[in-house]
Amino acid sequence: MIDLHTHSTISDGTDPPAEVVRMAADAGLSALALSDHDTLEHVAPARAAADRLGVRLIPATEISCDSGDAVPGALHLLVYFVEDRPGPLADRLAALQAERTTRNVRIVERLQELGIDVTLDEILEEAGPGTVGRPHVAAVLVRKGAATSIQDAFDRLLAKGQPAYFERGRLGVEEAIALAHASGAVTSVAHPLSLGLADDALDDYVGTLAAAGLDGLECEYARYRPQERAMLRGVAARHGLVTTGGSDYHGTHKPGLSVGTGTGDLRVGDDVLVALEARRPL
Ligand code: AMP
Ligand code: ZN
Ligand code: FE
Ligand code: FE
Repeated sequence: MIDLHTHSTISDGTDPPAEVVRMAADAGLSALALSDHDTLEHVAPARAAADRLGVRLIPATEISCDSGDAVPGALHLLVYFVEDRPGPLADRLAALQAERTTRNVRIVERLQELGIDVTLDEILEEAGPGTVGRPHVAAVLVRKGAATSIQDAFDRLLAKGQPAYFERGRLGVEEAIALAHASGAVTSVAHPLSLGLADDALDDYVGTLAAAGLDGLECEYARYRPQERAMLRGVAARHGLVTTGGSDYHGTHKPGLSVGTGTGDLRVGDDVLVALEARRPL
């Protein structure tokens, strides 16, 4: 058994990379993809732990893509076999992380203009290593009494349309698929129901991504019901995609999920990895 979708403290999970790897080992998994959002900083610490514990680490990430007007919801693209060394995709992710820093400075300046006492250092400290983003700003605002909850901080200040909102750069989905392939990696659409498309529209849209080189579809998503998973397997089969799966483990940020077994019934076989590897560009 394997798990192809997990998060650590390097993005928005609550366990450090080595701890997530230890959970995979304890669950008896043969392989784990740690897929922190929009970064590859987790790969080195995860690999060190995986080597120690005898688990195969698949270097991975989950990219929040821009899907244009085609998709009402969110498009998260899982990328597998992408190394944390210079390369087409890794370089673009690094550039986007640098843009994030600029954006965080703008957010803090705007909050200060609004009379809120908050500094960039406080936010960096809140975030620790890895990606720094709005959830960390929100946590600091709550801690300092400037918001009553994370949601309140978003609703009044940080969400799109609010005074301290600033756009950040995103990769287009087809661009991300191409950069992944140019890096020797493969891709799968994470939790496809998040796209917010009805079944027929979902099938059509996944077809366009398949034509653009998409390799997989995350059908075995821990929080999806059996009928939903079956519907997604049908979409994957129609477009020749690998059926991938994972828990989307985030520690206490998404309670009730375990590495490997999800809510209890998740089973992703080693054959999925074999099928993904077979699609790796040479
Ligand atoms: P960032 O990457 O800095 O733009 O922050 C994105 C993260 O903020 C998402 O992954 C969510 O966890 C959180 N988020 C975005 N919009 C909202 C919202 N309206 N309410 C609560 N949380 C949100
Ligand atoms: Zn996440
Ligand atoms: Fe996601
Ligand atoms: Fe995820």
